[in-house]
Amino acid sequence: MAKTSLCPTDTRDMMLAVAAKIIESEPILTDADRALGDGDHGVGMERGMHAVIEALSGTSYEQVGKVFVAVGTAMMSSMGGASGALFGTFFRSGGKAMGESATFGSGELAALVREGTDALMARGGAKQGDKTMVDALVPAAEAAEAAQAAAGSDDLAAALAAVAAAAEAGKEASKDLIATMGRAKTLGEKAIGKPDAGAVSVAIIFATMSEFVPG
Ligand code: ADP
Ligand code: MG
Repeated sequence: MAKTSLCPTDTRDMMLAVAAKIIESEPILTDADRALGDGDHGVGMERGMHAVIEALSGTSYEQVGKVFVAVGTAMMSSMGGASGALFGTFFRSGGKAMGESATFGSGELAALVREGTDALMARGGAKQGDKTMVDALVPAAEAAEAAQAAAGSDDLAAALAAVAAAAEAGKEASKDLIATMGRAKTLGEKAIGKPDAGAVSVAIIFATMSEFVPG
């Protein structure tokens, strides 16, 4: 039987696994931002994830939303740069949208990705197609909502797998775009063929969450 939901402790451990994976991926993120931006995305994310580990380790939670609010607060206060504020907004708004739920299931996943993405877009002003992390997040939000609406919607593993696949496809699709937001906007057509660094982070985050909840 596939897992239908996670308790707050497992939700915390899932986000600790995400933090470890992002830290391990620092060189990939650095290279991606070096190609199109100023090269600081990997180091910023690494710093943010060390702050996440510090905030989450040894803390116990009764509501899953609080785990994501803590992730967002740690990222926002430690990272600086565009992505610290944007990921901070994503996780804090997404976590708050889960209300007082004590389980992380496909409904909480949809709340995280949809509300988080809407808040991030309101804060950053980028739309789909601008070659930012929004290009991975919007398809992920659509996949999360579709998975929740589907029959048998209590299959968290399937919902996370669908979200991870959509984020990965969105990250890949960002390669074909010319940037109109963020630092890559001055590059014009030279940006074609390379993925957006923030979209690479988004794809890694959801892939790791999905791996944590095998089907
Ligand atoms: P900075 O741009 O300040 O150097 P980072 O390098 O940490 O910050 O993050 C860069 C990433 O932030 C980009 O790859 C892009 O995904 C994302 N980004 C930048 N500006 C925006 C925005 N206005 N809306 C959404 N995402 C953005
Ligand atoms: Mg940068």
